[in-house]
Amino acid sequence: MTLANCAFFQIEAQFASRVLYNRPMRFTTIFFDLDDTLYPSNSGLWKAIKGRMNDYMRDYMGFDEKEIPQLREKYFLQYGTTLRGLQAHHKINTDEYLAYVHDLSLKDYLAPDPLQRSVIASLPTRNLIFTNADIHHAQRVLTVLNLNDLFPMIVDVNAVAPHCKPMPESFEIAMKLAGETDPSRCVMIDDITRTTRAAREAGMFSILYGETNANGDANANFLNWQELIGILESQ
Ligand SMILES: [Mg+2]
Repeated sequence: MTLANCAFFQIEAQFASRVLYNRPMRFTTIFFDLDDTLYPSNSGLWKAIKGRMNDYMRDYMGFDEKEIPQLREKYFLQYGTTLRGLQAHHKINTDEYLAYVHDLSLKDYLAPDPLQRSVIASLPTRNLIFTNADIHHAQRVLTVLNLNDLFPMIVDVNAVAPHCKPMPESFEIAMKLAGETDPSRCVMIDDITRTTRAAREAGMFSILYGETNANGDANANFLNWQELIGILESQ
């Protein structure tokens, strides 16, 4: 056995003995954000999507290239996403835009994480995707990550239209679609602090992914998927 193999089996053994969730839980639904949450933010995928947003606005909508970053930032802050801002102020073919910005070879950016899969698969909750992207992108990402069978429902940006995260109405619609009436039985996991803050204000238990400290922006935070088990077990 090589050293690398040995280390791998040690990690596997620790993982198998500790990490899986096997207790009753007060939560019944967990909403998982998709981009930069189910995969690390350093994957480069989100950066590539943003690049294609810029290209679309320049090539198909006639924006001056220099104005685009500032405009996107303004729409992101004011409306939640670039798309919602474009819909509010410009004529845009939403389906064409969403197809264009997500037209990337996902395998160049993403790879399955077996540990993450085992953690999510062990949760006794109803596990749903809640994303500001569209369902086609979500399905493609879940397929590449080998997670698609773990999420029976995807609440996408079209399902909560004309709203999107972090608007309070979007959480109400997502809960309704999930068949939930009590936000305290719901968890939202997201990488964006304004979304975790909004989820908490909506009454959910919010968890910030990708940070070493929640800094008051969420009820909890984690960097590694094993940590999610401990967070949920302690509730
Ligand atoms: Mg995200």
